Parts: sequence; structure tokens; C-alpha cells
Amino acid sequence: MKIHHLNCATLCPYGGRLLSGSGRATSQAELICHCLLIETSQGLVLVDSGLGLQDVEHPVSRLGREFMTFVRPVLSADETAARQVEDLGFSRDDVRHIVLTHLDVDHAGGLPDFPKATVHVHADEHDAAIHPRVRLEKLRYRPLQWAHDPTFRLYRPSGERWFGFDAVTALAGLPPEILLVPLIGHTRGHSGVALDTGAGWLLHAGDAYFHRSELDPDRRRCPPLLDIFQRIVEIDSVARRRNQQRLRDLHRENGADVRVFSAHDPVELERCRERMGVAE
Ligand SMILES: [Zn+2]
Repeated sequence: MKIHHLNCATLCPYGGRLLSGSGRATSQAELICHCLLIETSQGLVLVDSGLGLQDVEHPVSRLGREFMTFVRPVLSADETAARQVEDLGFSRDDVRHIVLTHLDVDHAGGLPDFPKATVHVHADEHDAAIHPRVRLEKLRYRPLQWAHDPTFRLYRPSGERWFGFDAVTALAGLPPEILLVPLIGHTRGHSGVALDTGAGWLLHAGDAYFHRSELDPDRRRCPPLLDIFQRIVEIDSVARRRNQQRLRDLHRENGADVRVFSAHDPVELERCRERMGVAE
């Protein structure tokens, strides 16, 4: 399997070091949307999809005024997964599967650009997006992003163990090296995606944490605004904290075997790309 680490949207909210941990407090922070494009025997697999071409073209109607005001995405068609897939010499139809950590607006935006792809997601996440129960769920999901009626494959993992996580599952029609690892809390069915590269594992932890220093096994740290933001948008605080602790344990005990990264940390993306030529 060949793996490409993509940034499928740059986000520039105000908050400087209070969000990113460096720079001035009044400057813009820079967050990214870390996606994976995996070349497999079953075609191309995308893990998370960032913002899509239609989001970039019609941002207010597709993404919502709140997202535009507070998250302040750079609206670049070149950053969409669709363009990056084509720039790599593939056709968009070559993307057969999309595995999503969750259905938030900055993770599901690319879905309409790959209408033939099967979308794999936790069943509870799909339910939260289709049948939102609370105000937070009604606000965060954008049904326009799946209005093209993609084929969903839904999972409610149980049983299989993986590095201390007690319920993971393989995905239908995908190589067994790709697993869905529930990391509930940020949203109702939020999950990580684990990938056996043959030279160690990768775990895309989505929005289970936001800043690399949150994984510090000795002393968790998080820029204060980012910490507040995570609490505002969490659907289950207890589960989120428990899963974040599990990720810290995983990093401490199996950091040599499993490389964990989150969706929005630009430094983690850079580190993954640096290592890519070496191991993956
Ligand atoms: Zn996100």
C-alpha cells in the first residue's frame, strides 16, 4: 500500500498561540485537515475528505455562516482531495472507498466529489448526522454534503482487540490492514482509522485530540482556546477524556509501533510526510 498524507483544507481562525501554541495571541492560527489517500489492491481509499469543491465555491450555503466566521477556512480548490487525486495522476472514479472519522463539516466536505465511492463510518455517527438529537448535533452537520445519496457502510464494532482498544473492526471490501477504532466523545460515533503499513501502524485519530502535546504521556498540554473549543463541541465529555487517555497510553507504551496523529495539527502532518519516504 502506498500512502499519501494530504492537507485537504487550511483553517485560519483568530487566536494565534492560544490555539496553535506558538505565535502572537492576536494573529491567525493555522490548522489543517489531515487526510490519507491510500493506494490499495481494491482501488484508492480516502481517509477523511476535508472540504470539497462545492464547499470552496459556495462556502456560506455549504459550510454555514458560523463555520466561515469562526473557523475561517482558506477556500482553495487546489487543496481539495478531488484536485489532489487528479494532480497525482488518478481519476476521481479511482477513489472507491472513503473512510470517515466522523461527519463534521470539515471532514465530510469532499464526499460529493467522489459520488461512486462507498462511505464507511460508525453507525452511531451516521445516526447522529441523519437524526440529530441535541442542538449541538443539529448545528454541526451539513446534510448538503451527502445530498448526493452515497452508499454508506455502517459499523458498530464489538469484540476485536487492538493495542488495548477493545472493539475495532475491519471494513467491508477493504484490505484487512485498515481498521475502524471507535474513539467516541467528540461526536456520537467518532472513530479513528488504523492502518498497518507493513512497517508499523498509523492511527488517524481524527478530532479525538487537536494538539500534539495533548499526547504527552507525562504532562498533557493544550493551547487554552483549543482546549475550550474541544469542550464546547464534545458530545460526551467522559468518553472523550477516557479515549484521549487511551491514546496517551498507546503513545507511551507502543509509540514505536503505532504512529498516532490527529486531523488538524500541521506539525504532525509535516512529521508524517518527513517519515513517509523512510517507512511508509
Ligand atoms: Zn475537525
